[in-house]
Amino acid sequence: MTQTKAYAAQSATTPMAPWTLERRDPKPHDVQIDILYCGVCHSDLHTVRNEWDGTIYPAVPGHEIVGRVTKVGSHVKKFKEGDLAAIGCLVDSCRECDNCKEGLEQYCLNGFVGTYNGQEKDGSGVTYGGYSKQILAHEDFVLTISDKLPLEGVAPLLCAGITTYSPLKHWKIGKGHKVGILGLGGLGHMGVKLAVSFGAEVTMLSHSPSKEADAKRLGAHKFVLTSDKEQAKAVHDYFDFILDTVSAPHDYNNYLHMLKTDGVMTCVGAPPEPSQVAAFNLIFKRRTLAGSLIGGLPETQEMLDYCAEHNIVSDVEVIDIKDINESYERMLKGDVRYRFVIDMATL
Ligand code: NAP
Ligand code: ZN
Ligand code: ZN
Repeated sequence: MTQTKAYAAQSATTPMAPWTLERRDPKPHDVQIDILYCGVCHSDLHTVRNEWDGTIYPAVPGHEIVGRVTKVGSHVKKFKEGDLAAIGCLVDSCRECDNCKEGLEQYCLNGFVGTYNGQEKDGSGVTYGGYSKQILAHEDFVLTISDKLPLEGVAPLLCAGITTYSPLKHWKIGKGHKVGILGLGGLGHMGVKLAVSFGAEVTMLSHSPSKEADAKRLGAHKFVLTSDKEQAKAVHDYFDFILDTVSAPHDYNNYLHMLKTDGVMTCVGAPPEPSQVAAFNLIFKRRTLAGSLIGGLPETQEMLDYCAEHNIVSDVEVIDIKDINESYERMLKGDVRYRFVIDMATL
C-alpha cells in the first residue's frame, strides 16, 4: 500500500480538510498517475454534503483527473512511465454485460465503480477520487490526452465535457438544429462550446443576467434570461433540443414548453429533489423528456480526441486546494467562470 495525501470530508457537515489515504500497489493491468490537476464538479459538492444520500465517509471527491504516469503494471500496453493520462468518472465495471460490451460502462447492468464513493469489485473497499496526489486504475479506464492543450483546461472534459458531448451525439445534434443549453456553469459552458462546434444554433438559457456577455463569447448565438417572462415566451415551441444542466430544483414544465413538435429535453443536471412534470406538456407536440449519464470509455476517448482536434478546452479558474470550501460556496452562488480546477501541486 502507498500513503497518499488527500482532501476529504469526514461528514456531511464538516468542511473539506487534509487527510491521508492508502492506495493499493499497482496490479498487472494498473496505471498509476501523479495527479497534476483535478476539476471541481457540482457532483463533488452533492456527494460530500450527502445531498443524494449514500455518501461513505471519509469522502474524497474528484473525477476530472489529469496527470502523469509514474508506474505501470507488468501487463500494461497502453501507457508507459512519463506519459500524460486521465481518469474520469469511472474506474471499473463488470465488462461482461450487454452495456459494457457496447462501451456503455456508465450503464453497466451489474453496477459501475465510480472514481469516488464507489465499491471496488474485488471487495477491497471504497474508491477515493482526484482530490489527492496519486491515483491508479485498470488501463481500460485510463484515457489518453493530448500534450497540445493546456492540461488545466483538459481536466474538466473528463466529466463536464463527456456529460454534454454524449447526449448531443446520442440525439445527433448538428447543423439545422436549434439547441437550448439550460444553466451556464461547468457543464453548461461545455455544452455551448460543443453544440456550437457541431454546427447547431445555440441559445443560452440562464437565470443570471450577468452571464450574457460570456455566453456570446463562448459561442452562443442567443441569450434568454429565463426569469424574464417576455424573453421566455419568445422561445416557446422553438427548440429541437434542450440540455438541462441545472443543479438546483427547478420546474421542468417551464422549459418543456420551449420545445417544438418532437423536441427533446435531456436532463443531465441532477437536483436532489424530484420535480413534477405535467403529462400535457409532453402529450401536446409529442415532446420527449430524457436523461443521460456521463459517457462510456470509448466515447470519452472520442470526445478527448475531438476536443484536441478542434482546440476545445474548459474555461477554468485554477485554485489552491486550501480554497476548496470557499470554491464550493462560490459554485452554489453561480460565481464560477466556468470551472474550478485544483492545482494539485498545492496539496
Ligand atoms: P455548476 O457549475 O454549479 O452549474 C450549475 C448551473 O445551474 C449554474 O451555473 C446556474 O446557471 C444554474 N443554476 C444554479 N442554481 C439555479 C437555480 N436555482 N435556478 C436555475 N438555475 C440554476 O454545476 P455543474 O458542475 O455544471 O453540474 C450541474 C449539475 O449536473 C449538477 O447537479 C451535477 O451533479 C450534475 N452532473 C450530472 C452528470 C451526469 O452524468 N448526468 C455529470 C456531471 C454533473 P445560470 O446561472 O446560467 O442559470
Ligand atoms: Zn462530474
Ligand atoms: Zn457491465
